[in-house]
Amino acid sequence: MQTVRPNDPRGVAATSPRAKVVAAIEEEREALIALSKFIHRHPEIAMQEVESSRACADFLAERGFAVEWGLAGLPTAFRASAGSGPPTIAFLSEYDALPGIGHGCGHNLIAIAGVGAGIGLWAGLDDVSGSVVVFGTPAEEAINGKAIMAEAGVFAGVDAALGAHPGTSEATCPTVEGSGQVLACQGIRIVFHGRAAHAASDPHNGINALNSLIETFNGINALRQHIRPDARIHGIITAGGEAPNVVPDYAAGEFLVRAPTAAHLSELIDHVQRIAAGAAAMTGATLDFSFSEHGTSDMATNRTLARRIKAHFDELGMVLPEAKPNPPGGSTDWGNVSYLVPSVETHYPILDHVCTWHSAEVVAAADSAQGYDNTLTVAKALALTGLDLLRDEHLLDEVRDEFARQGVTRECSGA
Ligand SMILES: [Zn+2]
Repeated sequence: MQTVRPNDPRGVAATSPRAKVVAAIEEEREALIALSKFIHRHPEIAMQEVESSRACADFLAERGFAVEWGLAGLPTAFRASAGSGPPTIAFLSEYDALPGIGHGCGHNLIAIAGVGAGIGLWAGLDDVSGSVVVFGTPAEEAINGKAIMAEAGVFAGVDAALGAHPGTSEATCPTVEGSGQVLACQGIRIVFHGRAAHAASDPHNGINALNSLIETFNGINALRQHIRPDARIHGIITAGGEAPNVVPDYAAGEFLVRAPTAAHLSELIDHVQRIAAGAAAMTGATLDFSFSEHGTSDMATNRTLARRIKAHFDELGMVLPEAKPNPPGGSTDWGNVSYLVPSVETHYPILDHVCTWHSAEVVAAADSAQGYDNTLTVAKALALTGLDLLRDEHLLDEVRDEFARQGVTRECSGA
């Protein structure tokens, strides 16, 4: 006897690949929400997402995915794969929380958007060849897990990478040129070593490391007039001496340098390094200039993929505001993936109003009926986009062509 799937409004068994994708996610609705709630209840910060990553990977393993751990030397990164051969469609899950806040960025929802999409596409793979991979990507909020994974070659062989991030009522799918932009970003640590001396009785014997750091800030402020309006350089002093009557022999600062393209970022980093070297020369201190974390690139969104995701949102009844060009604001390690593989990180609403992100209000929205409902709709849209890519080689060609064209643009955009 044929099984009638309860979610099919016509009471007909889900036989088409598309119906199988939607039905598979619908069947797992309660289990996926339970998985997300577990992650929400046990917020784990970057690189400590032991239980959250394990819960996601186990969920996929129980449904037939082969799981590989410790990608790129990150103990909480995993790859869960199903199917065989190319093309390979990847969904990226995140699960890290914010220190002291919990899931104030909704990564417990990103976790199930990826896991749900993976399960959905796996169900639709019956009559098409190809592979589906769910990557567990840790530490988005600190150290940039995807950047480390990208550098280690983890995404080699992936034909398209899809993911989603929750947002406010203003969240959109980045379908048009200039939408969904983020800044390339590099963390920098600037340390000066000087020589301690009594600040009043023999200051002439001292070399003031703090003065070099202050002059670095002054130099950056002077540079600021001449950088592009959407570039950003901001920093803090993390060490600036121990006592006012001692010439500081050690001073340290942490900075973030951001720019609209990776190429422009690298120019700004060189400039900041020259400023710090100049500040060292002014006092006689020695400079130790280093990167404090893996840098992230700007986001090269694949618009062909984004438009397809948006079409599925429309079809599934999730209405988002129209995308429009926006000035880039924050930064994400998705950028590094987008330089290697055609990528989209769509945004979607989990609130019906605008609020401050990384807040207690978002913690609540990330565990709300609206949050779960919309996330599962997103999982379906991502999975259906994956199915389109596997069933329509023209679409995949179009995606690859756009990616190739973006590569040319990126090389030319650095000036
Ligand atoms: Zn986030």
